[in-house]
Amino acid sequence: MVVRFWGVRGSIPAPKSPAVMQELLVDVLKEFTGTGAATADRIESFVRELPAWKGAGYGGETSCAEVESDAGRIIIDAGSGLRRLGERLMQGPHGKGQGEIHLFFTHFHWDHIVGLPFFAPIFVPGNRIHLYAVQSDLELCVRQVFKKPFFPVPFEQLLSKISFHRLDPRQPLELQGVKVTPYQLDHPDPCWGYRVEETSARGRRVYAHCVDNEATRISPLDLGEDALLYKNADLCFFDAQYTLQEFLEHMNWGHSAAPIGLEIALREGVKRILFAHHDPSASDRKIGDAERQTRDFLDAYRARAMKAGRPLAEIEWQFAHDGDEFKL
Ligand SMILES: [Zn+2]
Ligand SMILES: [Zn+2]
Repeated sequence: MVVRFWGVRGSIPAPKSPAVMQELLVDVLKEFTGTGAATADRIESFVRELPAWKGAGYGGETSCAEVESDAGRIIIDAGSGLRRLGERLMQGPHGKGQGEIHLFFTHFHWDHIVGLPFFAPIFVPGNRIHLYAVQSDLELCVRQVFKKPFFPVPFEQLLSKISFHRLDPRQPLELQGVKVTPYQLDHPDPCWGYRVEETSARGRRVYAHCVDNEATRISPLDLGEDALLYKNADLCFFDAQYTLQEFLEHMNWGHSAAPIGLEIALREGVKRILFAHHDPSASDRKIGDAERQTRDFLDAYRARAMKAGRPLAEIEWQFAHDGDEFKL
């Protein structure tokens, strides 16, 4: 299973302004000056090795994940990142009207649907587009996205064949060689995360898509059946819009913080957790600070657990970037 992220920002797309880009270029060039001869190779390796917070950054597109299995592909979330995924798909069968898409919605907040009207395969006759959600108003919500005067092409004029599929909560759907199961997240307006499992001769691989999520339910007792979303996931995409301090200041806003994700992930046997849904106003530098805070938190948490005779499991973690790709 390969999981690719086409958007990891939260709430609204957040491209860097020219002024921020200019500042970034000045800082990078200043840091490079004096490190030696400016050959093309040295420039390239210097830029590639910069940490995200002082280099290319984390990206500004909103939520969109592509999960590719041996047998096919599903997409979760239609945030602004879906546009670029559509451009790539148009280079293959989807550009000739011979493609099939399976797109799962977590919920219908703007940052999770804004890419849909700009998803090129939806305009190509012959393509078959399957849309899935737990929410009963799936079709109504999608039709509204294309309603005038908000978008010039009405839903009825889209040339692909679009069908809607209602999912049952916590019931698996077998599709494209994977099993997809929706579990409820903690978010205003119902939001459903997805557990995607692929079982092959190589064993079982699990991806858990867990945005948008305040994670107000942390304990197994509170989570109940929804704890299965996280259970032994190879990769968990978790809502860490806020630092812990900001999280406390934004109760009931529907978003979480990395230390909360770590608490759940360590208990549920997650192997790697990817922190995402970065706040649109968070600069790369600020996300870098959140990374350092997370490292400090985990070190202190690990030391306390060791002292108490309950050592923590190993876990891989990082803050997500647009374009991240994981082979599970
Ligand atoms: Zn969101
Ligand atoms: Zn939301």
